[in-house]
Amino acid sequence: MLSVICESPGVLRAEERDLPARGDGEVLMRVSRVGICGTDLHIFTGNQPYLQYPRVMGHELSAVVVEADPDSGLVAGDGVYVMPYLSCGHCVACRQGKTNCCVNIQVLGVHRDGALTEYLSVPAQFVHKAQGVSLDQAAMLEFLAIGAHAVRRADVSRGQRVLVVGAGPIGMAAMIFARLRGATVVCLDTRADRLEFCKSQLGVDAAVAVGPDDVAQLASLTDGEFFDAVFDATGNIDAMNRGFAFVAHGGKYTLISIVPGQVTFSDPEFHKRETTLLASRNATAADFETVLEAMRAGRIPDQALNTHRMRLDEVPDAFPRLLEPGQTVVKALVEC
Ligand SMILES: [Zn+2]
Ligand SMILES: [Zn+2]
Repeated sequence: MLSVICESPGVLRAEERDLPARGDGEVLMRVSRVGICGTDLHIFTGNQPYLQYPRVMGHELSAVVVEADPDSGLVAGDGVYVMPYLSCGHCVACRQGKTNCCVNIQVLGVHRDGALTEYLSVPAQFVHKAQGVSLDQAAMLEFLAIGAHAVRRADVSRGQRVLVVGAGPIGMAAMIFARLRGATVVCLDTRADRLEFCKSQLGVDAAVAVGPDDVAQLASLTDGEFFDAVFDATGNIDAMNRGFAFVAHGGKYTLISIVPGQVTFSDPEFHKRETTLLASRNATAADFETVLEAMRAGRIPDQALNTHRMRLDEVPDAFPRLLEPGQTVVKALVEC
């Protein structure tokens, strides 16, 4: 079967590999679509701290079942999505139902080989039927679930003012689910094309460009009170530190981004607001369900989000171009 391997930072190669053997309790699948995400771009550029090369990337996938145990509830031909965070089920986090931050987490395409290949075998508990959605849509569940998880963490409610800093796919996902909860949503980003996309395709209430007067604009949008919930999805430490100032008194600050560095803030500023600071990592089965429901109801602009498409064999040549800002990529899907 054809597989695309990230040999070392900057080097992608297509090669023939043997079909995976289906292990005990696993589901053997033929991969259908793989979404390319910021994590993959970081792996390619050598900025993913948890990764050993060579690696087959790809953790956002839909597939068709080839073979599964009868008690898995899956049969050959079923369209499925995969929760790519393989959790252990017995650590302190898993015992609390927080499988998203399992101590022993193994993420497909990061800790072990992922989906940029033709066949994949994964334990059945991470494979779910993609009922009522297309295989394209099913491959887009994961990044949307990360946004849904962050919004759930912050418990965003109707009428609240929400600011999302960073208008990449994850930030966009947070905007979508904050809006679905009835919040007023503002986004802040450096890129004009992304701000425009958020206004025209996601229906955010205002889009502010990072610049000398951005604080004044955010203040005027909120009568000087700023935001009940601020989300950071920038992957930029300076932006993460700056975001504390955009939280209203009594508000919450949720960091979706992870960076290798120290987050710092002024304690008097943090305290006077009684700021709630949250990290948000991955997503749980409940978040995937939230996304599926919204998708089935037609409330996710998934066709607009899917800006690029390529075949598996085209990945080694086409992938580096996704890094060019001029390409205005939101979500690229690979057809396997
Ligand atoms: Zn992803
Ligand atoms: Zn665990």
